[in-house]
Amino acid sequence: MKHRLLLAAALLLMIATPTLAREPAVGHQFHSDIMITDHDGNPMQGVRCATVDFGPADSPRAPFDLDAWILEHGAEKVAVSIPVAFHVLYFYRGSTLVGNVTDTQITNQVDVLNAAYAGTGVSFVWRSTDRTLNKTWATMRPGSSAELAAKQALAVDPAHTLNLYTAYPGGGLLGWSYFPWSYPETSYMHGSVIHFGSLPGGYLSSYNGGDTATHEIGHYVGLYHTFQGGCTEPNDYCEDTPQEASPDYYCTIGRDSCPLDPGLDPIHNFMDYTPDECMYEFTGNQTARMDWALTTYRPSLISSKAEGDIVASPAASRTGITSVAPNPFNPKAEISFTLRAAGMVSLNVYDLAGRRIRTLLEQDMAAGPHDVAFDGRGLPSSVYFVVLKANGEQSTQRVMLLK
Ligand SMILES: [Zn+2]
Repeated sequence: MKHRLLLAAALLLMIATPTLAREPAVGHQFHSDIMITDHDGNPMQGVRCATVDFGPADSPRAPFDLDAWILEHGAEKVAVSIPVAFHVLYFYRGSTLVGNVTDTQITNQVDVLNAAYAGTGVSFVWRSTDRTLNKTWATMRPGSSAELAAKQALAVDPAHTLNLYTAYPGGGLLGWSYFPWSYPETSYMHGSVIHFGSLPGGYLSSYNGGDTATHEIGHYVGLYHTFQGGCTEPNDYCEDTPQEASPDYYCTIGRDSCPLDPGLDPIHNFMDYTPDECMYEFTGNQTARMDWALTTYRPSLISSKAEGDIVASPAASRTGITSVAPNPFNPKAEISFTLRAAGMVSLNVYDLAGRRIRTLLEQDMAAGPHDVAFDGRGLPSSVYFVVLKANGEQSTQRVMLLK
């Protein structure tokens, strides 16, 4: 009898344990790790970051993919300007508005992001702001039906846009995102949710410099916490962020929680848990990891331009791939691109592992529109990346060979 009970208990445990690879963070238990205040100024427990990696994350191939990418691309940076759609969620408590951040705070948030990501090749441009009075949505948690409903209703073109929701999340969560590999790039689940009090000038002391968004968007572009894996390789997959046994919450100068690993804890890194005023850097490997993650999982984001750029610029005044047709293709596709100035052009095709498999062009060319054929005979059906480099710029387009 006892044996049977144990068996039943074990079976129940198995059923209760999430085993699906792509299970969202439904029912995830977040442990409060910081003290914050509620919107009335009363102390309450909070959670520094509620981002959960619920996939087999990074496939086991990830370190190899990243290494291959760095080998191939060296220190080059993918230049990507990400349009940001702000979704302000707010509600009334009595006659007091909670969460209705100002346009100035939104402008300042974009400025903080651009300062933080300067040097990474990633930049941000304001695209739109909408405001929704809905307490259920404004107090959502990760994986909740409120999150699904809010995002389904409000998300703007997720493949080409960063959707940033400002909210007053339940449980005192400061924010969360989903990793690029967690959902297809077109999924409305993508984007970042951040506590409205964390915007520049917000009411959350220590966390009102705007770097909660910097940190959460770090996850959105593929970065892990610097303390991931503690003192055990491969940690956050970035060699140049020293190992860290646990998050640092206080900006502990000289902290060295993994003494066998060279280097002090990366307390100034945006992907640690220190207060906003303490964090100010991304590393070279983190930049490479962003490039790799975006190119691999978010190619449409890379090929997108801020709307204002497209409207303001006639086609020939910018350099980039304009179309690949047909797409998917078999066996030939025509790649069209424009050059704003004459110069050296290289046009290469890469596979998903970042290996260069074809060189289509490597020559001087005139300014203006050009076409070149990509013949996929001899290649397996797969997704490939066409990368144009010219005029000091890089443009990437994803193509699919379907035999
Ligand atoms: Zn985080």
